[in-house]
Amino acid sequence: AEDLLRIADLIRPVPDHPEPGVLFRDITPVLADGGAFATVATELAAHTGEAELVVGVEARGFLLGAAVALVAGLGTVPVRKAGKLPVVAASRSYDLEYGSATLELPAGVVEPGTRIYVVDDVLATGGTAAAACALLTDVGAEIVGFGTLLELTALQGRAKLGDLRVDALLSA
Ligand code: 5GP
Repeated sequence: AEDLLRIADLIRPVPDHPEPGVLFRDITPVLADGGAFATVATELAAHTGEAELVVGVEARGFLLGAAVALVAGLGTVPVRKAGKLPVVAASRSYDLEYGSATLELPAGVVEPGTRIYVVDDVLATGGTAAAACALLTDVGAEIVGFGTLLELTALQGRAKLGDLRVDALLSA
């Protein structure tokens, strides 16, 4: 718990990013601190349970997801923003406050029935996490949980994830 308090202190609030009125939580200093990074990876890895694969969501979810996978002894697969992957298994669009975004899952790396643990750095409105999970269920995977460093509880992202288990190390 003392570790988590220190990690919370490393998160840098940035007012008015990416637009006026938004308080962005910058986790860069957490990743830059070896002890904090290891604690986050280890704590999330402890929640992977029966998962067989870790999926990380672009872009900070790649950094955390890869670390969690390595600690848990699992492989990792990136869910990417549209247009980045050479071969795509599934594609999902979701609404942002202004406009929309599309996420894609690479082809040939997630077999139907695979148990997946999904990782991203921050759970805000939940749109990103919900789209990532939808992609995985589109290909027949089974999601066992969603792990994140920080949940912004006021935005009620959990509500978009139905009864999926959410493991948030910190909340704000
Ligand atoms: P959501 O779709 O839940 O609204 O937003 C979550 C996605 O946007 C995540 O991929 C996350 O990286 C990014 N995000 C939204 N707000 C923040 C924030 O305050 N800090 C960070 N680090 N990422 C955020």
